[in-house]
Amino acid sequence: MNFHVLTLFPEMIEQGCGASILGRAQAKGAISVKVTDIRDYSEDVRHGRVDDYPYGGGAGMVMQAGPVVRAYRDVAAQYETPPRVIYVTPQGRVFDQKLAEELAQCDTLLFLCGHYEGIDERALEEIATDYVSIGDYVLTGGELPAMVMIDAISRLVPGVLNNKESAEFESFHDNLLEYPQYTRPEIFEGRRVPEVLLSGHHANIEKWRRQQSLLRTRERRPDLLETASLTKEDLKYLKTLDALEQ
Ligand code: SAM
Repeated sequence: MNFHVLTLFPEMIEQGCGASILGRAQAKGAISVKVTDIRDYSEDVRHGRVDDYPYGGGAGMVMQAGPVVRAYRDVAAQYETPPRVIYVTPQGRVFDQKLAEELAQCDTLLFLCGHYEGIDERALEEIATDYVSIGDYVLTGGELPAMVMIDAISRLVPGVLNNKESAEFESFHDNLLEYPQYTRPEIFEGRRVPEVLLSGHHANIEKWRRQQSLLRTRERRPDLLETASLTKEDLKYLKTLDALEQ
């Protein structure tokens, strides 16, 4: 899968996506992360200026439409079909695992990162296909949001994770949070690993994990239970938890 990022700070993306699992995935060709510096498309050859004061007044600077659109057209021409263009913005649909799964089906995704007060609306009207946020707070730029999304999407691309890092049973699988995890030593500062995990009894371990997922989701993210895929057994277990509280 190809990711292409339009940004004023290419080094942030190159460094952020060049390490660890994403770096390894790029080295083995499971994903590619290309970066285009919007400043290279400035008309201001001397200073490379790409922003200007907002019409109508107000604080801050706005990224100009020209450099953004020229950078996009140059990049889009490199692909057979025009890629989906995600403008990362606090004004967008909030990114979640479901959207990560949908976007992981694409061959190529182009991320557009804003800075300062954002980007001239006319550039967005011309090129953006999606408006996506990583949460209801405002960051200084779109580079971290783009990296968050690239990371979450990449984990779903075949060949990115090895068996040890499998994405199969994790939080948000079935819309439930993952059960607690333990590793060696068996006793840490007097705290023991739950006995069932040492039993070697796979059915009991599965049952314990499912119940822990339900318990944890009920405690930490009860909103998820409303749309979780629950079995009869799950509902029975949740009822016993409710009864215990009364
Ligand atoms: N003035 C803009 C507004 O109120 O919507 C915010 C601009 S913000 C300071 C600069 C850039 O950071 C945005 O153009 C966007 O690309 C990025 N950004 C900031 N917060 C974000 C978030 N929660 N999700 C995605 N992108 C974000």
